[in-house]
Amino acid sequence: MPRSLKEEILKEYPRLTADSTFRFSCHKGISCFNSCCADVNILLTPYDVLRMRRALALSSDDFLGEYVVPLLSVGQKVPLVMLKMKGNEGKTCPFVEPEGCAIYEDRPWPCRIYPVGMASSKTEQGADGEEFYFLMEEGFACSGFKEGRKWTIAEWFQEQGIDIYREKSAPYKEITLHKRLQGLQEGQGLGPGQMQMFYMALYDLDRFREHLFTSRFFKLFEIADEVIERIKQDDEALLDFGYRWLWFCLFGEQTITIRGEVADKRRQEMRRAMESIRGQRE
Ligand code: SF4
Ligand code: SF4
Repeated sequence: MPRSLKEEILKEYPRLTADSTFRFSCHKGISCFNSCCADVNILLTPYDVLRMRRALALSSDDFLGEYVVPLLSVGQKVPLVMLKMKGNEGKTCPFVEPEGCAIYEDRPWPCRIYPVGMASSKTEQGADGEEFYFLMEEGFACSGFKEGRKWTIAEWFQEQGIDIYREKSAPYKEITLHKRLQGLQEGQGLGPGQMQMFYMALYDLDRFREHLFTSRFFKLFEIADEVIERIKQDDEALLDFGYRWLWFCLFGEQTITIRGEVADKRRQEMRRAMESIRGQRE
């Protein structure tokens, strides 16, 4: 049986804890400076996209069109979004400049956490268990390990501002690792409509907002006035709402309530349909 990525990681890299130490430094004078910001696959979380486009003052549509490769094939478990490298010979990141990363304060999670990797072991029930860490030292000409101060993993996370990314990406992890999605066989992922909805609700926030405010959405669902006010102008509140919406649509959780009269109408329609089926059988 092929080993999972996690099993490979466990085999290849020693497990570290928050107190484990390593030596590392990345700075402008280092011989390999900027060399890692090219020809690299960087998957972006919804919060990465939100932070990057906010830093660039772009609409979600413009950001996604210019800087992202969306992976939305039918049969995938969830849509994925990858940072688009430039079409030049070196396939450089669009944000790398001689001085370093042009969006450093808002660089995405994988650039932020490097050289530390994070994973969690499975419990006996198959759920995510204890989180552990590892260092991505092999197969990459990074001179950062040869110099610099000693860090604990916890100190590194604090220095790199990992906490807010971890907090904001927790709902994304919960959805993508949901047992219903993880239980799907190869090629049995979301349908095209669900893919598009997932992509819009988590990544294309301007379009999601437009959809909410120009459709009958708030007539169909009972949403508190203060939530409506917040999602009108606050992207982070809108992203939180996108997660609620996906829990409702994908997994049938009661994270959003259908308005009473709509629910009653649905029940009546259902009753009429059942009566008509019964009538046809008799
Ligand atoms: S290869 Fe390592 S040390 Fe060099 S720029 Fe990249 S992260 Fe920094
Ligand atoms: S986003 Fe910044 S840190 Fe990440 S690859 Fe691009 S230039 Fe490098």
